[in-house]
Amino acid sequence: MNNAMLIQTDELERILLETTPRKAVQRAVDLIAQSIPSCSVTVLGVDFNQRVHFDATNGIPWGVLRTVEARFNRELPRNVLDIIRGREMCFIEDVGAYPDWRRRPGDIVSYVGFPIIIDRRVVSIINVQTSTRRLKPEDVESLRPFIHLISLIIARYLKEQQSANRENFLSLLHETTLDGERATSAVEYMNTVVERIARRLGYQYIALLLYDDETESLVLRAQKGYTSEYDGFALSVHDRVSVVVRAFRLRHAVNVADVRTCSFYLRAVPGGHSDLALPLMVGDKVIGVLNLESKKVGAFSREDIRNLTPLAAGVGLMLASMQIKQLLREQALLDGLTGAHNRHAMGGIVAEELERARRHGHDVSFVMLDIDEFKSINDRLGHAEGDRVLEALVAVLRKSLRTIDKVIRYGGDEFLLVLPETSQRETELTLERLRASIETQVLTAMGAVYCSAGIATLQGDPKEEDLVQLADKRMYQAKIRYRAQLEEDPGY
Ligand code: GH3
Ligand code: MG
Repeated sequence: MNNAMLIQTDELERILLETTPRKAVQRAVDLIAQSIPSCSVTVLGVDFNQRVHFDATNGIPWGVLRTVEARFNRELPRNVLDIIRGREMCFIEDVGAYPDWRRRPGDIVSYVGFPIIIDRRVVSIINVQTSTRRLKPEDVESLRPFIHLISLIIARYLKEQQSANRENFLSLLHETTLDGERATSAVEYMNTVVERIARRLGYQYIALLLYDDETESLVLRAQKGYTSEYDGFALSVHDRVSVVVRAFRLRHAVNVADVRTCSFYLRAVPGGHSDLALPLMVGDKVIGVLNLESKKVGAFSREDIRNLTPLAAGVGLMLASMQIKQLLREQALLDGLTGAHNRHAMGGIVAEELERARRHGHDVSFVMLDIDEFKSINDRLGHAEGDRVLEALVAVLRKSLRTIDKVIRYGGDEFLLVLPETSQRETELTLERLRASIETQVLTAMGAVYCSAGIATLQGDPKEEDLVQLADKRMYQAKIRYRAQLEEDPGY
């Protein structure tokens, strides 16, 4: 009968009644140590990235173990590597005969390491070593019940941790979806998401970058932890370096456990040691990247990636739908044929420019422009040619005006131009220039296209309430004058 069997029931109960898994494991370790004379026992946790840490000890001081941990994290010894890779016990009866044994002071005679395997992965190793007496195969056998017990405790703990973790991620997913529904802009949404990730998951360095078609780059739109000099920071997707760009191009998560061994890491966090970039996928398109960094080595596990992937997908979808909504909003304010602002957009533009001009004491001018005898172009050359003339006219107006000037399609062949910070005199000169451009550039089989125009300005017409109506009235007066002139002299 061996010692292990004798103490089981009573001790088992005490182990199971421990308040934390850590204490339970420690108690089991103490038991093993008692059952085998002159031995030391440790439990070594192994994470997804093969980083290790001691969880329990009997016989070896924690201070010593911390040094061993650091050494193991530079390079794992062969016995530990064998256990992780082979997922089998490693029993070395005589370490003197083991070729790769690393000698330490207070030397060890025998060693046995048992893997604890969960989901086909070695999550912990229970190390038992003796210093004065050799371990016999029957000693090793007697340890098996303890090993099973510790396996169960650790498995239960890890499963609990996993499900708590998953619950946390699910809540985060739910919260970010609600955030998306509430947010009034994509930037507001992204800032909320970054804050939530920080609060729920405790990550310190979080960045959301969105792909910009025009510059073919990933632009930082929301961040936490980085200095403000990174705001608006852009990374070309053609760059060789950067974990972010790599995730964008590969369309899958890129996890760098230790940036010192990574040739494409771009430093943004002083002392940053690990980096995880997840693409924001919408279908098979990548619309951006979520980047997480940590000062710890191996901060992001495979489980984190598994949990973060649906989050990144949710954020991606939400952003894509916001972008579409924004586009629809913009399109709803544009004229479908010419791309000019439409009548719906007019009220807002006019009010905004008047307000701005009044606030700064500037002038603002309105020009109403209507094509002369446009109907006859339609009638004689067809509606399609009429359409082309309208498009060509807007193109010329846009090209000839400044970017701050607005072209609004007021009606069929009637356009309102809004010219900020432009006096009456300047507007008259602009109009002359525009007429010359239109007459030479907007042509049909019937010849040049002419327009009638009326001008109203804020400072030139201080008493007028509705400057748009005034410009329209003046345009009609001009048209009447033009018609009268035409009747007098058809060649005019
Ligand atoms: P006036 O010199 O008095 O301005 O005469 P006009 O023929 O230019 O003006 P009128 O207002 O009589 O006709 C404008 C025409 O524009 C009437 C309409 O059929 C046409 N029209 C309106 N919208 C469009 C459009 O999108 N495409 C085309 N091809 N024609 C349009
Ligand atoms: Mg007309």
